[in-house]
Amino acid sequence: MAGGSTFDLTGKRVFVAGHRGMVGSAVVRRLASENCTLLVADRHELDLTKEEPTLKWIQANRPDIVVHAAAKVGGIAANNTFPVDFLCDNLAVELNVIRASHAVGVQRLLFLGSSCIYPKHAKQPIAESELLTGPLEPTNEWYAIAKIAGLKMCQAYRRQYGDDFISVMPTNLYGRGDNYHPDHSHVPAALIRRFHEAKMANAPSVIVWGTGTPLREFLNVDDFADACVFLLKNYSSDLPINVGSGDELSIADFAAAVAEVVGYEGRLIFDTSKPDGTPRKLLDSSRIHALGWRATTSLRAGLASALEDFLQGHGRHLEVSRAS
Ligand code: GDP
Repeated sequence: MAGGSTFDLTGKRVFVAGHRGMVGSAVVRRLASENCTLLVADRHELDLTKEEPTLKWIQANRPDIVVHAAAKVGGIAANNTFPVDFLCDNLAVELNVIRASHAVGVQRLLFLGSSCIYPKHAKQPIAESELLTGPLEPTNEWYAIAKIAGLKMCQAYRRQYGDDFISVMPTNLYGRGDNYHPDHSHVPAALIRRFHEAKMANAPSVIVWGTGTPLREFLNVDDFADACVFLLKNYSSDLPINVGSGDELSIADFAAAVAEVVGYEGRLIFDTSKPDGTPRKLLDSSRIHALGWRATTSLRAGLASALEDFLQGHGRHLEVSRAS
């Protein structure tokens, strides 16, 4: 199969772009057990949407490896509300980070995509070969188009210059360091927060968006970070590679699982005025399985650790909770 090349992280300088985000912070935690030097830049120090400062920072810090985890991300409503941010900011960051990485001769770059890059009605489970075989899901096409462009930039730099830039497509992620904004988060963080607040308020019922019938696959972010490090060491190909858990369930069943983990016993009401998004999104992860990597965290255990993280106040946008 395409891909099996071993790469040693020992002694390497690794820049994690987007280290404050859910994925970036998980990659930072995971890299702590590797013998490498971690490079990060806080937002006030470096705005990755700006070309010149990004190039200067990368030239000054000379990473050997770049993990491109910087992105404007959000759930189904955020995509609809901030199309410019999702399309243009993400494109700008990709161009700046990938171009600068090429300019300084980065040895390997790992670009993070998303399962929403695949067509709305892709054949399930979704193999990497489904890319660009049909129209996208409209609720997240801004983000998806930016991510497809990033993946294509990696392929282009590989083809034209032989740069070892790879792209990784995670399924729906959840876990430590998630964004708990009440409207703009993804479903795991949204429901953890809403169910916890309903439990505290003894509310008899709680709203879940959509019909509850869409199928989604969920992967714990610490498993995903482990997959990223595994791929940095073992994967080199112009084909993107999927990373899923195989844990597929309906949103209704997922909501019931979150309610159980949170300990909320009220009624779930499905608000069908809210969009369902794509009907099914299950990745075919057989290529990464064949390389020897599999997710290990069960959904229950992952949700329990996400809840604990939320209760300790480690997520983002928790201040909205205190203000409202
Ligand atoms: P998607 O996989 O890109 O659609 O991302 P989301 O995590 O935003 O949504 C996944 C599914 O969960 C969709 O069918 C949503 O309608 C549903 N969902 C149910 N309740 C919520 C909620 O409170 N927030 C979000 N974001 N989605 C919800």
